[in-house]
Amino acid sequence: MEKVKARRVITNQREIKKRIEKDLDLYCQKAIELGASDARVVSAKDVVVDERVRLKCAMPHCHLYGSSPNCPPYTPTPDEVRKALCRYKYAILFKHDVLPKEDFVDPQQWLKGHEKHQKMTHKIASALESLAFNDGYYLAMGFAAGGCKTALCGGLPCQFLDSGRCRFPLMSRPSMEGMGIDAFGLAAKVGWEIYPVAHKNVDQDSISCAVSVGIVFVH
Ligand code: SF4
Repeated sequence: MEKVKARRVITNQREIKKRIEKDLDLYCQKAIELGASDARVVSAKDVVVDERVRLKCAMPHCHLYGSSPNCPPYTPTPDEVRKALCRYKYAILFKHDVLPKEDFVDPQQWLKGHEKHQKMTHKIASALESLAFNDGYYLAMGFAAGGCKTALCGGLPCQFLDSGRCRFPLMSRPSMEGMGIDAFGLAAKVGWEIYPVAHKNVDQDSISCAVSVGIVFVH
């Protein structure tokens, strides 16, 4: 495998401005190469952190609540997240089309079907974060979708909570929603078609597509 080249860290804002536009475009291209169906540069100002999003993990309790350090209640509070994220200017928002949509939408197929799609979101988020980090954006930070217990560990008990040794230390990430980020709102704001997927008593034909969304804050 070709080795990644590290770039010197610079702090001169004028120099960063000169190169960041090209870098952000490259990260969008890279997301597509890695399997995303679309990727956009978004202003970090457009990312909303909302207490209600994180609360939705607990009410009603998600089956993954407390199942790994990447899910609430272990994730940072919305206040902490908001304070940290407002220090960034740019992020890459990407989506992966879930095909067939039944992998998310069908109540039975979803049980195992969703895992590979959310794994892909973890892979893209961690790969873009690593690329940006090595390009000198040393505070780059990526978030994925769903819980890593099912997306990466196939439902096995979390090894990090058990012994402090994550099975996928470089790939596992909190979800956007677990950090309190309004992922639905942001996806809709950039024009992507996105539906709530609640399974029971929902007419599946009313949901024309399903997506898994992730984000990487670059600088
Ligand atoms: S061991 Fe698995 S469930 Fe636990 S943090 Fe790592 S990826 Fe997530």
